[in-house]
Amino acid sequence: MEIPAPLRLRIDRDALMSNWQALDRLSGAATCGAAVKANGYGLGAIQVAETLAGAGCRDFFVANWAEARALAPLGLTVSVLHGLRAEDVAAARAGFARPVLNTPEQIVRWRESGGGPCDVMVDTGINRLGVSVEAVREGLLDGLMLETLLSHLACADEDVPMNARQQAVFASLKHRTPARRMSLANSAGIGLGKDYHFDLTRPGLALYGGVPRADMAAHLRSVVRPEAQILQRRMVPAGETVGYNATWTAPASTEVAILNLGYADGYRRALSGLGAAIVDGVALPVLGRVSMDLIAIDVSARPGLAEGDWLAMDYDLARASALSGVSQYELLTGLGQRFARG
Ligand SMILES: *Cc1c(COP(=O)(O)O)cnc(C)c1O
Repeated sequence: MEIPAPLRLRIDRDALMSNWQALDRLSGAATCGAAVKANGYGLGAIQVAETLAGAGCRDFFVANWAEARALAPLGLTVSVLHGLRAEDVAAARAGFARPVLNTPEQIVRWRESGGGPCDVMVDTGINRLGVSVEAVREGLLDGLMLETLLSHLACADEDVPMNARQQAVFASLKHRTPARRMSLANSAGIGLGKDYHFDLTRPGLALYGGVPRADMAAHLRSVVRPEAQILQRRMVPAGETVGYNATWTAPASTEVAILNLGYADGYRRALSGLGAAIVDGVALPVLGRVSMDLIAIDVSARPGLAEGDWLAMDYDLARASALSGVSQYELLTGLGQRFARG
């Protein structure tokens, strides 16, 4: 017996495709790949990867080998950003993805396990994962079947001198390694212009409707929209309050809908009193605190809405992030498991 979920995540596949196409165009002569780690930023990695492959995307990035294995049935070209632990060698030898080697130890491990096509991350200043530029210059990568040399920008969503510094260091490795291709830019990096594109770009956030730099907004469409069912409609008399800690008091008698959605679903508590549902372009505000599993919406403007009806939330990522102070990345990847996705 299937029990229909009282909340669903609408995923606009056309918008997802359109965003990839826009990012591919903005990547100029470079090829555009896709970061689909963290379950496709919370949307569903398989569905996302299928859709993007249909749009023409050929290079996919995940964080770990379990994520790569989940995509294996699709037969795509997948790179595993977090490299090759001893525990990963068996998975890596199975051949459904290639490692992004991040340390000299991982390079040795890959060679000793039989080698083959791989990627390498070189650290140009973020000091997260990657081998050093000096080691690369000294020949650490010589003899590898190196498909793509990657580096990662620390501040691509800001206009700061660090971007040009990282770009210059990375560019200085051109033709100095056996790499067939070079790749630097995430979503925001694409917006920094053609010097940052190299051969392959790796957007994540912007594919899913996030806007990493304001100047990219015009090219990107919203992809996700949480929807939830009205569990109860009630009239709250003037002077009464709604929700935990009674943070909202009705100034006049107010029609309120209680929706099956809360912070345990990723609808963040920081949107208390700030978020809204959208009906026919009209914003219906969230009243009071977001609870774990419920929110209250002012539906005075929509007398026809009743128990069992569905409401779509405003989930424009840039706007919701500005309102709540929660990053667009967290707003996406935090969307929970109780949603029916589709
Ligand atoms: C997550 C990630 C990306 C994608 O970044 P966005 O900011 O989401 O576009 C690209 N490269 C690496 C190494 C990453 O970890």
